[in-house]
Amino acid sequence: MKPVSLALVGVGKIARDQHIPSIAGNPAFELEAAVSRHGRIEGIENFTDFDEFLKSRPDVTAVSLCTPPEVRFDMAAKAISAGRHVMLEKPPAATIGEAEALSEMARKAGVTLFATWHSRFATAVAPAKAWLSGKDITGAEIVWKEDVRRWHPGQAWIWEPAGFGVFDPGINALSILTALLSDPVIVEKARLEVPSNKRQPIGATLRMRSAAGVPISADFDWRQEGPQTWDIEVTTREGVLRLSKGGSEMYVDDKLTGTGPDREYAGIYARFAELLQNGESDVDFQPLRIVADAFLCGESVLTDEFFD
Ligand code: NAP
Repeated sequence: MKPVSLALVGVGKIARDQHIPSIAGNPAFELEAAVSRHGRIEGIENFTDFDEFLKSRPDVTAVSLCTPPEVRFDMAAKAISAGRHVMLEKPPAATIGEAEALSEMARKAGVTLFATWHSRFATAVAPAKAWLSGKDITGAEIVWKEDVRRWHPGQAWIWEPAGFGVFDPGINALSILTALLSDPVIVEKARLEVPSNKRQPIGATLRMRSAAGVPISADFDWRQEGPQTWDIEVTTREGVLRLSKGGSEMYVDDKLTGTGPDREYAGIYARFAELLQNGESDVDFQPLRIVADAFLCGESVLTDEFFD
């Protein structure tokens, strides 16, 4: 079958680290164009303006948007109006309103919209979901602590409105949590620590519960130097499941039961190809809704200045 002609938009860290190699490794796609004001991809046509790209390359039928969330809605809306299929990096939009509007626009236009959550494709997430199936869950705890200076060097947008602050990585944990639990997750309380010289939180603790009443907690921190922690523990009456290293390792009662190579972005492009082939969309905004609710009901506390 002829490969899908694709453009990559926003040639920054994640586009270079993950999207370009994953597209190259998937014969279902042919990367034909890039759109970025400063970044370039050698060997294909490069544009600095998105409108110009849409006008000049009607043959490119799908776009993968790797820009920060603040500018994603306008680009996605234009692409959908121009009849292109759209893949959204996480988080899918800056607000729930934007995300839902895009979903509706794509449905009406008859194009595929894929709101990706790369962490859901981590090696141990599907086995963990299978292990939990039918078990009686009594609690869940997320500890997601990393060093913002190491993972987001020079990215000013993450501290600005719609940049998500520590929820930029935290939403990855929430995407795994909501994939593992069949019940909706409700935020009861949140505490957001905002450095006095920034506009988004550097730390957040959330108290949540499932609709059935199972207690869930999350501790997000961007100040962790040294070893990084990306753990989710789910307690059941039949044993304790722990996902470590962002979902790449699975433990049951502290015994390693599953691990493997990183295939997160290979997984999202395989899923995009499947959606395109079936003429379907995949839009789950639960992780975004939890973050929005944390901001809605959260208490903001000013903390020390932070310099990255
Ligand atoms: P990044 O390095 O800042 O790259 C984003 C690119 O988008 C920029 O290089 C910029 O390229 C373009 N852009 C367009 N409008 C922009 C604006 N108003 N402000 C800033 N950049 C703008 O960011 P990233 O780390 O790749 O993250 C992009 C998205 O991927 C985010 O939603 C993030 O949550 C997600 N993500 C990141 C990681 C990670 O480890 N970094 C992992 C998974 C997912 P031009 O200047 O050339 O236009």
